[in-house]
Amino acid sequence: MFKALLLEESGKETHASLKRLNENQLTAGDVLVKVDYSTLNYKDAMAITGKGKIVRQWPMVPGIDYAGTVLASDHPDHRIGDEVILTGWGVGEQHWGGLAEKACAKGDWLIPMPVGMSAKRAMAIGTAGFTAMLGLMALERAGVKPDQGPVLVTGASGGVGSVAIRLLAKAGFEVHAETSRMQHKEWLLSLGASQIIDRTELDKEPAALESQRWAGAIDAVGGRTLARILSQTKMNGAVIACGLAGGVALNTTVMPFILRGVQLQGIDSVYISKEKRIEAWQRLQKSLPLNFEDQAQEFTLEQSIQAAQDLLAGKLKGRIVIQP
Ligand code: NDP
Repeated sequence: MFKALLLEESGKETHASLKRLNENQLTAGDVLVKVDYSTLNYKDAMAITGKGKIVRQWPMVPGIDYAGTVLASDHPDHRIGDEVILTGWGVGEQHWGGLAEKACAKGDWLIPMPVGMSAKRAMAIGTAGFTAMLGLMALERAGVKPDQGPVLVTGASGGVGSVAIRLLAKAGFEVHAETSRMQHKEWLLSLGASQIIDRTELDKEPAALESQRWAGAIDAVGGRTLARILSQTKMNGAVIACGLAGGVALNTTVMPFILRGVQLQGIDSVYISKEKRIEAWQRLQKSLPLNFEDQAQEFTLEQSIQAAQDLLAGKLKGRIVIQP
């Protein structure tokens, strides 16, 4: 038996509760993992609260990420005792996830823990931090360099945003951070931002082209904010779209693309290749401060339901880890 957070559907409502489950109930996979740490991402909070259509099979153990130790394996790459990380692949959506003491995964989904990284550090990074690194790598591929001007990060107090600020600052970029929570200004400056921009300044209907401000952007907000950023991006700049916290619609024009050569690149962290995952996790281990994980807020499995509500209500900041 093992403890897990279980989501069940009744009518159109999602009910989350702690349950004791049997190992033989775990959804199919060839590697059994003892979960040492999991985390709460935006997507997990949407699943647990039922505010978003995340869960595609009921009942579901949520948790799109986990880090743990292999307990049993029929996969040639993983042996008992190996430490592994899982993010994405539909886990916590269509396969049982990491908000549990145990999980079962396909061995091909797991990546080895980078040397020197702990399970807590891996989950303080989680899909949010991994996505922030994919965003930096996409900006680099698009040719954006620190001497070309400031890079904007939106949803700055959130998981993706706060890690993106650190990574960009460490890579030498001048980072401007957009937030609705100006009470976090000092904290965002301490992460490496040099200017803090209030959401109300950016969240407005854009003109087709506006004054050029950013060499690049990592955008977790989407919607009108993303449209406005595109109209303010410098000649040959790049905007990396990774989130929808502010909306899914994108009403823009072709003008930034055809008159300024702006690139718009999306990020999908869920099904990205194993090769890119390993590269990103190794860079994350080297780029983030040694005490990065100490700054994550830690909750138990029991507290994770309340934490999910608080995350969506804007009562938490930065990264969250869950110890089952
Ligand atoms: P968090 O909840 O940690 O942070 C989201 C941040 O977005 C908030 O802190 C807030 O920033 C801002 N925000 C929240 N609501 C609104 C709103 N109504 N309008 C504008 N801004 C808002 O989430 P994550 O950082 O984990 O995820 C951010 C986004 O990225 C989500 O949409 C998520 O689904 C997406 N994502 C996508 C991935 C991919 O593979 N493409 C992977 C991971 C996440 P502040 O408080 O500073 O105002």
